Amino acid sequence: MKSSKENFQKAHIVIIGSGIIGKFNALELSELGFRITIIDPTELQNSSYGALGLLMGNMYQKRRGRSWDLRKQSIELWPQWITFLQKFNNELNIEKPLIQLTTNEEKFKKLVKFIYESNDQNLQILERDSIFIKNINKAFQTKNLKGMISFKDGRINPFSLLQTLDKCLKHKKINFLKGEVIKIRKSNNQWISTTRDNENIKSDMVILCNSLKAIDLIDRISHNITLKPVLGQAMEIDVNDAEVDLLSLPKQFNINGKNIIPKSKNKLIIGSTDEHSTEPEENTFEKLTNFIDKKPNWLMKGKISKKWYGIRSRPEGEPSPIMKNLEDGLIICTGFYKNGILLSPACSKWVANEIKNYFS
Ligand SMILES: Cc1cc2nc3c(=O)[nH]c(=O)nc-3n(C[C@H](O)[C@H](O)[C@H](O)COP(=O)(O)OP(=O)(O)OC[C@H]3O[C@@H](n4cnc5c(N)ncnc54)[C@H](O)[C@@H]3O)c2cc1C
Repeated sequence: MKSSKENFQKAHIVIIGSGIIGKFNALELSELGFRITIIDPTELQNSSYGALGLLMGNMYQKRRGRSWDLRKQSIELWPQWITFLQKFNNELNIEKPLIQLTTNEEKFKKLVKFIYESNDQNLQILERDSIFIKNINKAFQTKNLKGMISFKDGRINPFSLLQTLDKCLKHKKINFLKGEVIKIRKSNNQWISTTRDNENIKSDMVILCNSLKAIDLIDRISHNITLKPVLGQAMEIDVNDAEVDLLSLPKQFNINGKNIIPKSKNKLIIGSTDEHSTEPEENTFEKLTNFIDKKPNWLMKGKISKKWYGIRSRPEGEPSPIMKNLEDGLIICTGFYKNGILLSPACSKWVANEIKNYFS
């Protein structure tokens, strides 16, 4: 009898979409021996490139259910991925810890209860007298911040991650086809993906990793899936003020829902990831700095040196993400409106198991 790997080597899998989800799936499946083709019209303009790369797994406050299971699995799988990817970029790493702060007393009480009940040594309460909060208070001239620190969560630089994945995919000789898939259909047990340039790519399987556009490629009558766009935006601010040294701050932290990443002594990234619109509004600076009531002078005088946004897909009527076997040889892996970077290891593992079963 032929080994699974021999079976797998004969099979060709098309992955539509080359964001973080498509890339993780491609690598995971190529390691199993499958022949992979990724199809995408643009490589650099997706929400994965817009992400801030925070990995908020362990600090997730609901410790049961599918969402927690995916997080827990990803937390366990990330170190293995880092070891694997470091062969292609030895500087790739996850910067830890991650700090979450609030000025809302009710939210803080919930955090305290969560930490107490989770009995997890990697989570600790941060009171006002902690050194992290003292440094943040000094820089932002705040007084009433409190929160938690998670020693198991952190941040990976998404740009480095995606570039490293590309290097790795190239090394594994994974085909990349530049093109927009406008139709998929099944004919004689094979899937045919048609691009806008009229190219037809035959494969044994198709995995839809093309975020919002995935639903354009499926039969909406048989598969009742609805995805809504969700905006995430970020900006880099240049601070020209001796008053503050941004490197005195923690490497990554969140205040009242805004993610903050000091990049250098006078550069800061601020991002938000859950906005119910599709187009960024004019007042990016005000929106992204509204995490404190009274902004310090250095922040008020700060100049936006870069700003960007990304549109993610949010499932309606079912939880995120959507990972389903739609029909023989067709898998959908989308709806990562948040935490796509965090969840990519667990999701690609799920896809790989489905495909192993399909071909075994
Ligand atoms: C500002 C911002 C901050 C974020 N911060 C974080 C964070 O800190 N941590 C975290 O975990 N997540 C974060 N996210 C979320 C994260 O970016 C997403 O969850 C993740 O990138 C989703 O990846 P994806 O591969 O599903 O989609 P995408 O990266 O959007 O990739 C989809 C790809 O499909 C391609 N495509 C579309 N249609 C077709 C077609 N017809 N044919 C072929 N290809 C097609 C597109 O060109 C695109 O490349 C953030 C997002 C934003 C915008």
